[in-house]
Amino acid sequence: MKESSQKLYTTAFPYFSARDIASILRDSKAMLQGKSLLSYGQNVRAFEHSFSTYCGRKFGIACNSCTSALEVVFEYLIAESKLQQGDEIAISTQTFFACASAAINATQKLGCKLVLLDTNNQFLTSLESIKSAYSPRMKALILVHFAGAISSDVFAIRDFCKAQGMFLIEDCSHAHGAIAQDSDGKIYKAGAIGDVGVFSFFSTKILTCGEGGMIVGDDKALMHSVATRVNRGIDPLRQGEHFIAFGHNYRLSEFSAMLGCKQLEQLESSLAHRNKLALAYKSALKPLIDSKILRFQEVAPGFLHSFWRCIVFLDSAYSTKREEIIAQLKHDNIIAEAPYEPLLHKQPLLENAPFVRANCSNAEQLAKTHLSLPMHRKITLKDVAFIASRLTLAIRDLSKERV
Ligand SMILES: *Cc1c(COP(=O)(O)O)cnc(C)c1O
Repeated sequence: MKESSQKLYTTAFPYFSARDIASILRDSKAMLQGKSLLSYGQNVRAFEHSFSTYCGRKFGIACNSCTSALEVVFEYLIAESKLQQGDEIAISTQTFFACASAAINATQKLGCKLVLLDTNNQFLTSLESIKSAYSPRMKALILVHFAGAISSDVFAIRDFCKAQGMFLIEDCSHAHGAIAQDSDGKIYKAGAIGDVGVFSFFSTKILTCGEGGMIVGDDKALMHSVATRVNRGIDPLRQGEHFIAFGHNYRLSEFSAMLGCKQLEQLESSLAHRNKLALAYKSALKPLIDSKILRFQEVAPGFLHSFWRCIVFLDSAYSTKREEIIAQLKHDNIIAEAPYEPLLHKQPLLENAPFVRANCSNAEQLAKTHLSLPMHRKITLKDVAFIASRLTLAIRDLSKERV
């Protein structure tokens, strides 16, 4: 039996430093004493400004979730007739269900279809995966930087979308602060490549304020439209209450925005910590990598992985043993289950739906082989050594039985 005090190696954990906690308590007190607003005040504006600037975008509109962010972007596309009756929205099959539900909910009246894209062997969308599913009805793409990795094809994908008149939404819910570099050596943060970037600040994400989201972009008219929709449809450019859309109340609270501002100050050190852990995992697992039993998601030259999750792929010979490996690690309090299960095209609501087309054989095979190694601010280098040794042991044990 394990001691109950033994450390639990969870996949995600929100992190606030002691200094941040003290400052948050101070600011909350001031808020509760009426010294600053509880809603739609300086913290929301500061968070929008600092986060969009960090991403290298002109504008940021905060909202209460990434799901809301996606919905208002689709509503903008409909309002501008960029999405019409029967058009198709492409999404990687390897993502959270919210991508699909936001697209379906927002476009219900138009009867838009979902095209669920296969992935490359990194669990990312490649230009090829889009081209092989492409039809002229495909008018929008949600590009998901899965686990925090940006596809090495990202600029080719952007150019393809431009050429075909497809609207490109980067879903950066895993990729706060991740970086891609184009062939001219120009650096882009996640969210600065597509027409817009959307983010989640849910509690498992790299930057969290409990619940929250943001849309970042450069197009003034677009951002004006989403700002309107997030805030009940009120025209943000006029004094008073002039409603120009049947919008939502998708606003972010001042308290959440305050947490967001604090978390943004920590983001660079979080990314450094995560990348340090990933390197340590790679070096501790080198024998398994060298013998081709295990591989990590690749990081293209000049790119930075944000390591929301540290995904490793087992050789396909081990695919029938994955559940046993996960179970064995759980005995040591190591949580290695990996998102997303089932993949979108296998979700009961989507699998046989008439509004979905999908051909995702590569992702389906890959989904039998991936694990997620614990990765957050409370994981230390010592923990990495322990986790890697346990994983090695679990795999070696199973090898003895012969896979
Ligand atoms: C978490 C997540 C979402 C949903 O974010 P919420 O803020 O919970 O609505 C959307 N897309 C991806 C890829 C996510 O990981």
